[in-house]
Amino acid sequence: MVDLNTIASLCKRRGFIFQSSEIYGGLGSTWDYGPLGVELKNNLKALWWKSMVYERPDIEGLDAAILMHPEVWRTSGHVTGFKDLLVDCKSCKKRFRYDLLKEKKCPECKGELTEPRAFNLMFKTFMGPVESSAGEVYLRPETAQGIFVNFKNILACSRKKLPFGVAQIGKAFRNEITTGNFNFRSREFEQMELEYFSHPDESDKWFKYWVNERFLWYKKYGIKEENIRLREHGKEELAHYAKSCYDIEFLFPMGWSELEGIAHRTDFDLKQHSNKSKANLSFFDEETKKDIIPHVIEPSGGVDRAVLAFLINAYSAEKVRGEKRVVLALNRNLAPVKAAVLPLLKNKPEVVGFAKKIYEGLRGDYKVAYDDTASIGRLYRRQDEIGTLYCITIDVESLTDKKVTVRDRDTMKQERISVDSLKGYINARVK
Ligand code: ATP
Repeated sequence: MVDLNTIASLCKRRGFIFQSSEIYGGLGSTWDYGPLGVELKNNLKALWWKSMVYERPDIEGLDAAILMHPEVWRTSGHVTGFKDLLVDCKSCKKRFRYDLLKEKKCPECKGELTEPRAFNLMFKTFMGPVESSAGEVYLRPETAQGIFVNFKNILACSRKKLPFGVAQIGKAFRNEITTGNFNFRSREFEQMELEYFSHPDESDKWFKYWVNERFLWYKKYGIKEENIRLREHGKEELAHYAKSCYDIEFLFPMGWSELEGIAHRTDFDLKQHSNKSKANLSFFDEETKKDIIPHVIEPSGGVDRAVLAFLINAYSAEKVRGEKRVVLALNRNLAPVKAAVLPLLKNKPEVVGFAKKIYEGLRGDYKVAYDDTASIGRLYRRQDEIGTLYCITIDVESLTDKKVTVRDRDTMKQERISVDSLKGYINARVK
């Protein structure tokens, strides 16, 4: 399997992911997505949104604010409960998350560790001009609470009946103790979260359903069988709000690690917020004529972790006719660049002019690249390395027969296609 350094250096060199504020020495565990990274990330989020909101009649979308009333986090249990235990090494002074340690010694220098201390992961800031505790607010550590506090609003405007869900994609912030492993654990990241509300009696059924559904989603977009597995949480691991939880794990270079968690949150959040805010966060059941507080199933995935997993999963380095070929075999919906236009003879103005016209004709619906700055072998290698699906080459003959050569990334097969049918040919394969 590819190691993280190789992926991180490809990401930097080709413009997927940069360290944040790099020219100032970088800011710990925050990342910027470059021209290709933003395409991959947007494609991923669009696929999630499509499968949640567009393909289903029972799910609506939401985009809530990052800053919320501080009472939200007291009521949700995050102020008291969203903590990790940290330990320091008495010798090398490095800091670790207690629950991630395999033994009770420093994993780096084997030194003695301090007693574990609880550390709240939420970032705090101040609202208004005065930095006082009265103006203290938190950057949300999960997007879910925005959905719970809007439960009534969404129910009223959508007139949904149980079971139904609310989907949201957005930034979350956690002041993580141990970081590293590239963008796997960042302090600022994006989550794709669904809160699926059902009758309490049906919630276990829906829990199983969503575990399976989310597992299949990753496979549908190319995660290989051998790279993905499910792991059920032990009782001692469960978050303060969860009755049961499964992790979808991916085989990252540092070992099996969480890609997405599917939690059965029961009625914990709606009940807590109902009690505290006095708002009625229940659902009126027409059949029984009773108010019920639905139970909620929450598939919660990290966009950044999924980007990393899809990159690792897609990477391969192979030898083709004695030369190294690095390919990112990303699913066609995820690939950041769908097609690249490559003129074979850049010193022939007619060929270049023709190629540019083809490039202009293809642009608009997805990202198309144009490159004439190297030999054709090199140009192909550049496009393979970023996962471009189709390379279109234009030669002298193209000027007379009005045909171009289209090369498929995965099979490397080449086909001669008439310019008139090119757009249809590419559209049919990339959309
Ligand atoms: P971990 O145990 O790895 O810290 P978690 O169990 O606290 O993760 P959840 O609270 O279940 O994570 O968050 C749901 C999802 O959000 C995770 O599966 C992951 O994909 C993503 N996520 C959580 N924390 C981070 C982070 N610091 N950086 C990037 N993604 C994260």
